[in-house]
Amino acid sequence: LRSDITADQIPILAKQSFPLCMQNMYQHLHEDHHLRHGGRLTLGLFLKGIGLPMDESLRFWRAEFAPKMPGDKFDKEHGYTIRHNYGKEGKRTSYTPHSCVKIISATPGQGDYHGCPYRVWEKEAVRAALQKMKVTPGKVEEAVNRAKGGHFQLACASAWEGAHRCPCDTGINHPNQYFEESRKTLE
Ligand code: SF4
Repeated sequence: LRSDITADQIPILAKQSFPLCMQNMYQHLHEDHHLRHGGRLTLGLFLKGIGLPMDESLRFWRAEFAPKMPGDKFDKEHGYTIRHNYGKEGKRTSYTPHSCVKIISATPGQGDYHGCPYRVWEKEAVRAALQKMKVTPGKVEEAVNRAKGGHFQLACASAWEGAHRCPCDTGINHPNQYFEESRKTLE
């Protein structure tokens, strides 16, 4: 795992290199200053996977929650979960970021944002989100059609290609892999 990312870099990295599932969770967290458990776990482990160390993760989540929750309350209610994700609490298992298959099979309820948008969203919502990500028009339509056909990871690969303007030879099977492949083209 990389370990050179700071909380301050998250907004720009999200814009450049997060797959749609993570962009969606991050956006809701940032706008609502809240994210329910499934989202905190899925996004939290993804951020750990991109190299956000535990202290920076605490700083990041505390700041995002701050408008609605004072820091000491945040530490009391959510600090444990974050340390737990990093294997610093409970059984001290270091948890692995979720794969696409796991995220696709999640069943997010009302007010949850931790599913795969290509599976969960209507096609208009997918189209609008990809246009906002500046995915090229042809790849937007390819992604929308693949998602409609139930090929969610292929849809995500189309979005990656349209966002990075180059072929995605590896396919997409993990949000952290989406991120790593993106950084390779940008750094
Ligand atoms: Fe996220 Fe994977 Fe769905 Fe892409 S295919 S949006 S990386 S869960």
